[in-house]
Amino acid sequence: MAPYRIRIFGDPVLKQRAADVTDIDGRLVKLSEDMLATLRSVAGLGLAAPQVGVQKRLFVYQMGEDEDPVVIVNPTISDARGEWEYEEGCLSIPGLYFPIVRPKEVHLTGYDLQGNEVSIEADELLARLFQHELDHLEGRLLLEYLDKDQRKSAMKELRRREVEGDRSAGHMVRAGVGRGRKNDGWEL
Ligand code: ZN
Repeated sequence: MAPYRIRIFGDPVLKQRAADVTDIDGRLVKLSEDMLATLRSVAGLGLAAPQVGVQKRLFVYQMGEDEDPVVIVNPTISDARGEWEYEEGCLSIPGLYFPIVRPKEVHLTGYDLQGNEVSIEADELLARLFQHELDHLEGRLLLEYLDKDQRKSAMKELRRREVEGDRSAGHMVRAGVGRGRKNDGWEL
């Protein structure tokens, strides 16, 4: 079983700015391991600490089963270039995807769990993931990138789920139901 429950849209923790990590200690290592275990339990590629209720500037990602899991502490993005549209989803807004344009390439810097500086040139999906996770650390959700009409229909769907207490959408996505129907975007 996943160590954490992923916080869902409406949880106030998702709208707060996370604090810088000041100590890389055993607790942070444990947090990272638990976040990666949580990420593996769902159909997602990346997970930021606020999504498990922890207000720290840290995120984890794993781009595929055969890829190494990565932990990034106190990340910063610089040198955003180009434009790329992608059907972007979010583990905290399960089952909803939106075509969102963001820079295609970014340069990410931060620290690993040994305290070493990391520097990664990313494009397309990885660049998208970095931007999405950094938004989580700022308390920003992808809904903020939608135009008026998209936002209206997204809010309507989210309210409908709230009324019906519908928790099934996320599970459907996890089981692969509906994936690829309109798109093959990933939840970040
Ligand atoms: Zn997200």
